[in-house]
Amino acid sequence: MSEFWSRLLSTLVLLVVGALIVWPIAGAVWALLVLCLGLLGLLVFHRRQLQQLTQWLANPQVRAVPEGRGVWEDTFVALYHLARRQSVSQQQLSKALARFQRAGEAMPDGVVMLDAADQIEWFNPIAGQQFGLNHETDIGNPITYLIRQSQFNEYITAHNYSEPLIMKSTRSPDMTLAIQLVPFGEELKLLISRDITRFEEVETMRRDFIANVSHELRTPLTVVGGFLESLQDYTDLSEAERAHFFDLMRDQTLRMQRLVEDLLTLSRLESAANPLQEDTVPMPQLLQQLYAEAQGLSQGRHQIKLEVASEAALFGSESELRSAFGNLISNAVRYTPQGGEIVVRWDVANGEGRFSVKDSGIGIEARHIPRLTERFYRIDRSRSRETGGTGLGLSIVKHVLTRHQARLEITSEVGRGSTFHVVFPASRLVKSVAAA
Ligand code: ADP
Repeated sequence: MSEFWSRLLSTLVLLVVGALIVWPIAGAVWALLVLCLGLLGLLVFHRRQLQQLTQWLANPQVRAVPEGRGVWEDTFVALYHLARRQSVSQQQLSKALARFQRAGEAMPDGVVMLDAADQIEWFNPIAGQQFGLNHETDIGNPITYLIRQSQFNEYITAHNYSEPLIMKSTRSPDMTLAIQLVPFGEELKLLISRDITRFEEVETMRRDFIANVSHELRTPLTVVGGFLESLQDYTDLSEAERAHFFDLMRDQTLRMQRLVEDLLTLSRLESAANPLQEDTVPMPQLLQQLYAEAQGLSQGRHQIKLEVASEAALFGSESELRSAFGNLISNAVRYTPQGGEIVVRWDVANGEGRFSVKDSGIGIEARHIPRLTERFYRIDRSRSRETGGTGLGLSIVKHVLTRHQARLEITSEVGRGSTFHVVFPASRLVKSVAAA
């Protein structure tokens, strides 16, 4: 028998015994009265306990479980344990949920949770930025109301989510997004959006680069091919004509050679597997060599000056620095008409090393200056080609300088000339023995 019934039974037995004791003393009426009063008291007691239970159930706080008396004590104790267990598991659940929410918020991609009707249940801050969503107004609204793009609509309704959708952000048209829907649970979906703008830019650069290289190679190849055919078809060409054709073919071959060499230099500079081979580069000596090379390039057409205002050496790769400085000097020679002046200078100012090449050449319009170091960017294509340019010289310079934490500063005036400054940080300077 359960404790409840045994307790109830013993209370009833007590009441009956009490009534039986009263009966011989005061008569049957009093005995019945005692029994009825006892039963009434019992009823009031249980009613009060039940009322406490009902009150607690309206606001079931673990700490406010009623204590209970008699048979109710065990019930309330059991209730207390149950409520405690529930409160603990609820706390654990809330913590887990908060952790998941924080993880979703910390994700570098946009995440939107959609219900079966494609209505927004939750989204993280990145998705908010990418789609311009607002927590106050947009939760519960269908995603297709908020992202109004036909291709997005089609993607959502097609129910084929194996491939991501590439689209422009509704917020900023400069941003390209890759959207992927991931169904989960019972008809729920996660919409994951990734900003792939940078990736797209790199992809465009790669395509442009391949197109440029192909174009640069195709022209000389066509010329050489044409000459070869002529040589084959016209067997009666004079010696002088033949020599002329061979000269032209050699020029075109040299052009292709220079291009391939510059491309290989660029790829070496960009390769992660090619760390900088650093050493102390004695600048005064290097400048003397560059000066001699400049004289060779100019063939006496320009007045070239060398100013070595500092004996400081540079810490870096001699071959890379020679190639960068050589490119700047060669440009000065190529873009300065006969009779012009070129000054090559090395000095240290404000703790920074400064290599500069100043020319009195054709100059550069200000709008071109920020783009000069782009691959194949040329202001005057034919002038560049005629003088043996590949359009890659300044890109090589930029790469070498980046590897040496140096910067390129260009000042120029059309018709008056340009100055290219290469500024090295103090950390790259080595005080030479001579200076010490
Ligand atoms: P290129 O092989 O065509 O000279 P670069 O990358 O060295 O290629 O230079 C890019 C462009 O910058 C050149 O085509 C030219 O238009 C311009 N440029 C470079 N140096 C000078 C200079 N000293 N004076 C005028 N224009 C210059």
